[in-house]
Amino acid sequence: GLTSRLQNVFGKLRGKGKVSEDDVNEAMREVRLALLEADVNFKVVKDFVAKVKERALGQEVVKSFTPGMVIIDLVNKELTELMGGTTSKLAKANKPPTVIMMAGLQGAGKTTTSGKLARLLQKSNHKPLLVAADIYRPAAIKQLQVLGEQIQAPVFSLGDQTSPVEIARQALAQAKANGNDYVIIDTAGRLHIDEALMEELKQIHEVTKPDEVLLVVDAMTGQDAVNVAQSFDEQLELTGVVLTKLDGDTRGGAALSVKAVTGRPIKFAAMGEKIDSLEPFHPDRMASRILGMGDMLSLIEKAQAGIDADQAAEMERKMRTAEFTFEDFLEQMAQVRKLGPLDQIFDMLPGMGGKMKGLKDVKVDEKQINRVEAIVRSMTTEEKRKPELLNHNRRKRIAAGSGTSVAEVNRLIKQFDDMRKMMKQFSSMMGPKGPKGGMK
Ligand code: GDP
Ligand code: MG
Repeated sequence: GLTSRLQNVFGKLRGKGKVSEDDVNEAMREVRLALLEADVNFKVVKDFVAKVKERALGQEVVKSFTPGMVIIDLVNKELTELMGGTTSKLAKANKPPTVIMMAGLQGAGKTTTSGKLARLLQKSNHKPLLVAADIYRPAAIKQLQVLGEQIQAPVFSLGDQTSPVEIARQALAQAKANGNDYVIIDTAGRLHIDEALMEELKQIHEVTKPDEVLLVVDAMTGQDAVNVAQSFDEQLELTGVVLTKLDGDTRGGAALSVKAVTGRPIKFAAMGEKIDSLEPFHPDRMASRILGMGDMLSLIEKAQAGIDADQAAEMERKMRTAEFTFEDFLEQMAQVRKLGPLDQIFDMLPGMGGKMKGLKDVKVDEKQINRVEAIVRSMTTEEKRKPELLNHNRRKRIAAGSGTSVAEVNRLIKQFDDMRKMMKQFSSMMGPKGPKGGMK
């Protein structure tokens, strides 16, 4: 992920003090690579990096003691901004029904998403009508009908002998007659953009005057998504985008590209084949996904709010000089507890899930903290300061003294070692001065 890349860049500068413009340039190269790896369109990357660099140089990055964090913070904020900043809502017609037209290439997920969107609307007490306007794909009508049955939403169809434009026209009349407040028109797609298709979509558009024209884009298509979005937008004046198949292993760079190129907001994200797997799109979450850093930023914010900066800096110094002891461990546990449950914290750290599995599974609760304290208190001062002294005999004595078991004592010592490693990793991301320096 980008976090570790930037760590590398700024890790090299450790101890040198302030960063230069060259260092920022090097960091920007890493940002650029990370975005390209996430499948963001190269032109979009170029513009984006130029913009962030300018801001980075204008800001306090150069003077900061935590330049990596400042740049990540900046990149993340800019990405979020570029993807629309906040979640954008579905338009609503002044006079119902609100007409939503789905468009996109074949296989993008139009039909599936139509069903999901109907489901989402039903959940807020709306009465959507689904319209089967793809008469070319043999099973398309049936597919929509099956979805409609599944969620008990009406599906308007005139078979495959009536033109899609006529189907759409009559569907609107039926929606008005039956009191459907939303009409979702599932249109045909092609494997590639072609003129006949665009002509048909334009006609449907003219007849139904949709409040929303949603382009359905397969997130897995990466760079290609840009061309698709651009042509559809030129022809149809999109009002928004739905990104599908985000449950795949794509980093979601398409989201950024599509928004940057068309300027149309991404309104929904689909993350699965199930009918319930459609959600409003969250730009901030997508930014983190593209950067590959989990909820790193919210963790940093929490850390800043929760941990006393001087104390954190002192802890960090101790860990780096291997002075970190069981006494500090106890203190650290108390600090970390301020951040919330440990397992959640590990969830937020990128790449921790696998590496720290053992530690992650440890649920820290009040009772357990007390037992940990009991164990540590049963150690001699010497043992607390030099954990490597803790051989089997000493562990047995400590277990007996604390009313715990040798297994528990072993587990704690293991946890202590893991935590030392984890804190080392964490603190190196926070820069040599701890979370205090430079972050705003
Ligand atoms: P259309 O040709 O644009 O109407 O696309 P469909 O709705 O028929 O979807 C094509 C395929 O993609 C189907 O197999 C869907 O089940 C699948 N699909 C659609 N959305 C998603 C999604 O969000 N995640 C996954 N994993 N599959 C999806
Ligand atoms: Mg379809």
